Amino acid sequence: MHLLNADLHCHSRFSDGTLSPTALARRAHDNGVELWALTDHDEVSGLAEAAAAASALGMGFVNGVEISVSFAKETVHIVGLGFDASNPALLAGLARTRGGRLARAQAMADGLAQVGLKGAFEGALRYVGNPALVSRTHFARWLVETGTCTDTGAVFRRFLTEGKPGFVPHEWAGLGEAVRWITQAGGVAVIAHPGRYKLTVNEEYALFSEFKAHGGQGVEVLTGSHGQADTAKYTAMAQEFGLFASRGSDFHSPEESRTDLGTLPDLPGVLQPVWQALARPGNAWAAAASLQV
Ligand code: AMP
Ligand code: MN
Ligand code: MN
Ligand code: MN
Repeated sequence: MHLLNADLHCHSRFSDGTLSPTALARRAHDNGVELWALTDHDEVSGLAEAAAAASALGMGFVNGVEISVSFAKETVHIVGLGFDASNPALLAGLARTRGGRLARAQAMADGLAQVGLKGAFEGALRYVGNPALVSRTHFARWLVETGTCTDTGAVFRRFLTEGKPGFVPHEWAGLGEAVRWITQAGGVAVIAHPGRYKLTVNEEYALFSEFKAHGGQGVEVLTGSHGQADTAKYTAMAQEFGLFASRGSDFHSPEESRTDLGTLPDLPGVLQPVWQALARPGNAWAAAASLQV
């Protein structure tokens, strides 16, 4: 049976990706994606361009966003799908979430200067496509360019993670807030790449329970950052918590991302794909999705 090739997680220059929404749409389409979402960090400004590009290619598209949340002293990402991108409460919440990034970037540069890496703020800004969205990724690209590290992963390990000189703790949105911004704008909230969080078993159980209690409906089972053990674990968690399953590459850049758009395996057949929750009458991909139930 043909399962819909859905890729519901990736980033453009409107956050920390390197491609435009139009170039991402073309790449997704070339790779066989039939239903696509652009999910920039804390930002929806790229969605109009993405929707127009997908429509011109005849590819299914739903609005997306990836919201930064603080939970149990860890940063957790919540993906929103299929929401109204003009919803005022959502837009205000995202603007507030973006708000602290500039001051955080300055503090990160101060930390890097203390270990002899001068000019990091200006350096990172050269990689920023959207001045409201300075990310650790932009610092990482600059530190690769200057030859300090050979790849962005090494920059994160040496400089940008907890306890390292360029790491600055940050208070993001609350879990319930983020879920409500998405659901009240008519969207579906999804826990992004759960295998990446350093949570204890109890904290992870609390994350799933509270997410569900706040109205969250989905979890990424297949993502570029999950191995086979993660996929098996979160297949079971999706079933235990009654969550729809999502699939998304988390593609950022042709040079940096190991998982390209549209190239993940199919979701395990025992799960309910999240696009069933996103289906609207009249969507060609919704009709295709309904054949797969
Ligand atoms: P920020 O939102 O500024 O904290 O940056 C988070 C982003 O950094 C993530 O969305 C990833 O794109 C990237 N990132 C996080 N950890 C790593 C890592 N270990 N290696 C490469 N990129 C990472
Ligand atoms: Mn990112
Ligand atoms: Mn993420
Ligand atoms: Mn992401």
